[in-house]
Amino acid sequence: MTWQFEHVTLGQRVRFGTGTAAADLAAEVDRLGARQVLLISSEPVAAEVAAKIDVAAHCTDVAPHVPVENAERARALASSSGADLLVSVGGGSTTGLAKAIALTTGLPIVAVPTTYAGSEATNVWGLTEASRKTTGADDRVLPKTVIYDAALTASLPRSLAVASGCNALAHCVDSMWAPRTDPINQALALEGIRALSAGLREDAREQMLYGAYLAAVAFASAGSGLHHKICHVLGGAYNVPHAETHAAILPYVLAFNTPAVPEAAARIREALGGSLIDVYDAVGASHVLHGVPDVREAAALILPSVPPSNPRAVTEDDLITLLAAAQAGQNPDGVPA
Ligand code: NAD
Repeated sequence: MTWQFEHVTLGQRVRFGTGTAAADLAAEVDRLGARQVLLISSEPVAAEVAAKIDVAAHCTDVAPHVPVENAERARALASSSGADLLVSVGGGSTTGLAKAIALTTGLPIVAVPTTYAGSEATNVWGLTEASRKTTGADDRVLPKTVIYDAALTASLPRSLAVASGCNALAHCVDSMWAPRTDPINQALALEGIRALSAGLREDAREQMLYGAYLAAVAFASAGSGLHHKICHVLGGAYNVPHAETHAAILPYVLAFNTPAVPEAAARIREALGGSLIDVYDAVGASHVLHGVPDVREAAALILPSVPPSNPRAVTEDDLITLLAAAQAGQNPDGVPA
C-alpha cells in the first residue's frame, strides 16, 4: 500500500485530571498572564471551577446553537469588562458562545468541557440566525488550553451522558471516511472508539473524556463525513437536540457505509468490542430519530451537502430509507443496502 496524505494537527495544551479543574484553571490564568477573565457558563459547577481565580465578568447567556443575538450581547460584555481571557465551563453550547466572542475579538479561550461534545478541540465555530446555522473554521476560535476534569461530568444525567458519548463515537466513526481522513486520524479515532466503548459500558468518566478528546481531534482533522452532514442539516432545519440526533443517526450511517468499507468497518467493530448495536443495547442508547416531520423534505435538504468522497454514492432515496429507518428505530443492520 502507498500512502500519500497531508495531516494538520491543531496546537493546544490539554490538562487532564479528576477534581483538578480549579487548580488547573488558576495555573493556566497565571501562565497566560491574564488579568481580566470573562467567565462564560450557565452550569452550576462554574463557581467551583472558578473558585481560585478573579473573575471580571460572568456571562450566563448560553443557548443551544449560539443565536447571533446572544453572541452580540456576549461580545459587548467582553468589551465593557476589558476581558483579556475567555473561560468557558460547559458543553458544546457554552464553548460555542466563547468561540463566537473569540471569532471577532481574537481573545484566547480556556475551555473546561462538561460534556463529550468535543467542540473544545476544534477550530470550528457555529452561529444561528433566523433558524439557519452557519459554521466556519478559524484558528482564532481554537481554545488555547482545554482543562478536562472527570469530576465535572458526574452531574450529567445518565441519558445525556450516553447520548453525548454516542456523539463522540460518531466523531470517531465518521473520521474513518470523512473527506480528509488519513491514517493518523484513523488511529486517533480507533483509540477513541476503544475508550468510549469501555467508558460507556463501565460508566468510566475519565475514559469518556479521554475518548471524547481523541474523537474531537480526529474529527477536527478529518472533517465532516456523511454522518455529520446529515446531523448538521437536521439540526439547522428542525432544531433537533444535538447529542440525541447524533446518537440516533450513527448506526444507520455505519450500516449504510459498511459494504463499501469492510476493512474500516471491521476495525471499528474490533475497537468497539462488538457491534455498535450491541454497545447501544448494553448502555441503553437510543437510535430512534425524533423531531423530523418529513423525511422526504429532510432528504432533499441533505443531498446537496453529501460529501462526494463518501465511500458509497448516496441518492435521495437512500437518504429517505435511512431517515425513515431511524425514525422507526428499525434494526440498522436490517435496512436494505
Ligand atoms: P449543550 O452544551 O447544549 O448541553 C446539553 C445540556 O446539558 C444543557 O442543558 C446543559 O446545561 C447540560 N449540561 C452540560 N454539562 C452538564 C453537566 N456536567 N451536568 C449536567 N448538565 C450538563 O450540548 P452539547 O451536546 O454539549 O453541545 C452541543 C452543541 O455543541 C451544538 O450546538 C453543536 O453544534 C456544538 N458542537 C460544536 C462543535 C464544534 O466543533 N464547533 C463540536 C461538537 C458540538
